[in-house]
Amino acid sequence: MNKILPNISSATDSSATIKRRVRTLIDRLAERHELTRDEYLYVLDHITVDDTAHLFQRAYEAKQPHYQNRVFLRGLIEISNHCVRGCRYCGINRNNRSLQRYRLQPDEILDCVERGYALGYRTFVLQGGEDPYFTDDRLTGLIRSIKTIHPDTRITLSLGERSKDSYQRLKDAGADRYLLRHETASRRLYEHLHPNDSNFDERIRCLYDLKELGYQVGAGFMVGSPTQTNADLVEDLMFLKDLDPHMIGIGPYLCHEDTELAGNDSGTLIATLILLALVRLVCPKAMLPATTALGTLDKLGRENALMVGANVMMPNLSPEANKALYEIYQNKIRAKDTDQYDRDDTKRRIEAFHHIADFSAGDHVDIERMIRHD
Ligand code: SAH
Repeated sequence: MNKILPNISSATDSSATIKRRVRTLIDRLAERHELTRDEYLYVLDHITVDDTAHLFQRAYEAKQPHYQNRVFLRGLIEISNHCVRGCRYCGINRNNRSLQRYRLQPDEILDCVERGYALGYRTFVLQGGEDPYFTDDRLTGLIRSIKTIHPDTRITLSLGERSKDSYQRLKDAGADRYLLRHETASRRLYEHLHPNDSNFDERIRCLYDLKELGYQVGAGFMVGSPTQTNADLVEDLMFLKDLDPHMIGIGPYLCHEDTELAGNDSGTLIATLILLALVRLVCPKAMLPATTALGTLDKLGRENALMVGANVMMPNLSPEANKALYEIYQNKIRAKDTDQYDRDDTKRRIEAFHHIADFSAGDHVDIERMIRHD
């Protein structure tokens, strides 16, 4: 079976026995936080729209004891769209010649942090392509400056694969968290999406290194990437259980027409929500963003995500001239909004769905407990 979640549109035609088994497995996952490979596959192969209400409710409940209805806000600064990699799905990959490239200078990044601090953010996510300009020396200088000016903030880096030594230096300089989606835990799919220049084992190695170094680590994957099957998604669930990251970014694959994968279907809202909900049950304490990709796919994508267990949003703080150029996928929402509008609009959306916008540093619940007891 090639198509992901094949039953999802055929709604109610599954037999009562199948339906009962799907619900039993969802309940088991909610209680034990893991299933076997075969059980996960059974759920993904047989879940119908009918069963999603049950899954979504269980996932919503699962975040309550740890985070209640708080949604943590992070200010996202897209520091460079230069990239040495050739990821076939990504609009800023090195082979896209039609993209105008930019990189922010350290003082411009500090300006973004200042604007963000004034708007209330206490976590800054510095994300970018793998740009050799950002050497350890440049980054450590930048991280130290931010932490000296604002010691009450957290710095999250999302700058791709680096050596363990480099991760160590960035951590010593004051970086707290690192986002590095594993993209897919299926070796076959990983190699399909990253032929030639990117290595599955390396990517996974980076994540375990980051964890060992004491970062709050974020992994994650795309839903609906070309040739992805339910069996591939089962690998993601198994992998996340093993790594047990602090953050998990899950978004739909969105086809970018200036990439090698032009012409493919994008992921769907329902499949992404099902995976988000399952991941919330596997890792009940994880920070789960309602991603910009989901908001781009559907007007209420992020709000839906909150209702199935997500608890983080990342408004954009990049300079206005650069927002649209960080084009990992097309038609990115908020590319034309001001920082102030983005913050206010995000807060309004959160509140409209009966959640609370939380501007605190917002550590993972286990880390927060550790800090409190120090
Ligand atoms: N260079 C960094 C940051 C990459 S951009 C790194 O390697 O981690 C952040 C995430 O955007 C990627 O990890 C990927 O999962 C997602 N992404 C890239 N292209 C995408 C696309 N076309 N559709 C949806 N998500 C995409």
